[in-house]
Amino acid sequence: MKMKNKLYSVVVPLYNEEEVIKESYYRLTRVLQEIEGDYQLIFVNDGSKDQTEMLARSIAENDDKVVLLNFSRNFGHQNAITAGMDYADGDAVIVIDADLQDPPELIYQMIEKFNQGYDVVYAVRSKRNGESIFKKVTAKLFYRTLNKMVDIDIPLDTGDYRLISREACDILKRMRERNRFVRGMVSWIGFKQTGIEFERDERFAGETKYTLSKMIKFSLDGIISFSTKPLKFSIHIGLIMASLSFVYALYLIIAKGFSGRTVEGWTTIVVLILLIGGIQMVTLGVVGEYIARIYDESKNRPLYVIKDEIGSRAPNDVENINASNPIYEHSNK
Ligand code: UDP
Ligand code: MG
Repeated sequence: MKMKNKLYSVVVPLYNEEEVIKESYYRLTRVLQEIEGDYQLIFVNDGSKDQTEMLARSIAENDDKVVLLNFSRNFGHQNAITAGMDYADGDAVIVIDADLQDPPELIYQMIEKFNQGYDVVYAVRSKRNGESIFKKVTAKLFYRTLNKMVDIDIPLDTGDYRLISREACDILKRMRERNRFVRGMVSWIGFKQTGIEFERDERFAGETKYTLSKMIKFSLDGIISFSTKPLKFSIHIGLIMASLSFVYALYLIIAKGFSGRTVEGWTTIVVLILLIGGIQMVTLGVVGEYIARIYDESKNRPLYVIKDEIGSRAPNDVENINASNPIYEHSNK
């Protein structure tokens, strides 16, 4: 009996990557042609404003291994990955950045681990080359803080470059939460997971598409989606403040009893008002972040909108796949 060839789906999110897309396509193709099994390359254009769409379109039109999903606007990296995983038909799905900071050659090792029975093989950045000190320090800090705050085990220094088995991908597809932090969601599902180390290269060309504000939003998503500790933290601050003020009040009463002196203490009052006011605002803000996410969740909008699709999968598969795809399910109801 002949074994069915395995199919690997490779998902590449693209946002203003006109400078790297061609090189990325060549290098990925070179790697993928060498693997045992078949492959499909899924480009997700996340509302790029440059020539990315045009370039990706011509690639997809000329190579039937390539599919291009065009978003109607920028929905963000995490939603782009999600769209790719929703679309993927493969026995395993590999998510990789377009900028070649994640070396495609690592895919060989990922597939090897996958064949050994692992459901998730993630790439751990043992070293980051060519990134700003600021990015390195904030990233290090973020992964460590995150690990302290959440209950699940999210591997340190791990991006979204990973291989996910069909089984794991199907479970991820059922998790339609907004403000996504995909790498956390992948850890959450469990299964047999393992990491392989690599040195992160410099971007092949262009600049990071993660602006500071996108990075802040992303780290908040990571922490807030996986932890309620910030909420509980305000209880602790409240308790500490209350105990401190109790001690202080006691001190004032005793001081008055002994010396009969009342302190003028204008400064103390102003400082205390500012401090307590500040803490209250911060706590309110934390509560607000959670409420905003509940509101977001309750609207139940699709995670992304696909404007058009270029190149397609084997035609006889389409019906089956659409039936199991939650996005299509939503629109049928
Ligand atoms: N990206 C995206 N949408 C965005 C921002 C980024 O699809 O809004 C893509 C980008 O094209 C790249 C990947 O996500 O393929 C990672 O982005 P980038 O390399 O800029 O992030 P960094 O490596 O600096 O963290
Ligand atoms: Mg990058």
